[in-house]
Amino acid sequence: MGITQSTHSEPNMGKIVIVGAGASGISVLLHLVEKARHGKVLPLITIIEKDKRFGPGLAYSSFCSGTIINMQADTMGLYFNDPKHFSRWRQELSSGPFPSRDIYGQYLKICHNKHSLRLRTWG
Ligand SMILES: Cc1cc2nc3c(=O)[nH]c(=O)nc-3n(C[C@H](O)[C@H](O)[C@H](O)COP(=O)(O)OP(=O)(O)OC[C@H]3O[C@@H](n4cnc5c(N)ncnc54)[C@H](O)[C@@H]3O)c2cc1C
Repeated sequence: MGITQSTHSEPNMGKIVIVGAGASGISVLLHLVEKARHGKVLPLITIIEKDKRFGPGLAYSSFCSGTIINMQADTMGLYFNDPKHFSRWRQELSSGPFPSRDIYGQYLKICHNKHSLRLRTWG
């Protein structure tokens, strides 16, 4: 089990708790980070994950390394207004429209690590 948490928050703002750091949880985290980047003051954010790994969930873990994603890579970016974000990220790792699921798992993990650090910095 793991927990990621922002280090500071505005008092009396309540809390945001994200349960599960799979694709949906990481996507919500990125959305919140974008809001913070544009000046929004956020309450304390806590992400709780029952596994040790943040990001891949079941579908994009190394258990699925021999299988490919079933949606085109260009639609799999985590930012709703930038669907090609994943395609750009994985350019040097693989080609073709349907990369393996564990590559997508690495993408989720790196997005979590990068943005949870940002959240800690901003507090
Ligand atoms: C084998 C398989 C292949 C798939 N392939 C594709 C694909 O190619 N393309 C596609 O678009 N979709 C695919 N999907 C659908 C895929 O599940 C979703 O795209 C996406 O992973 C769902 O994200 P999620 O965060 O909702 O769930 P998950 O990725 O399952 O994440 C849930 C997270 O919550 C954690 N969790 C669960 N219970 C608790 C708890 N009580 N407390 C704390 N943490 C908890 C889990 O450990 C996990 O990390 C696939 C699904 C499966 C099962």
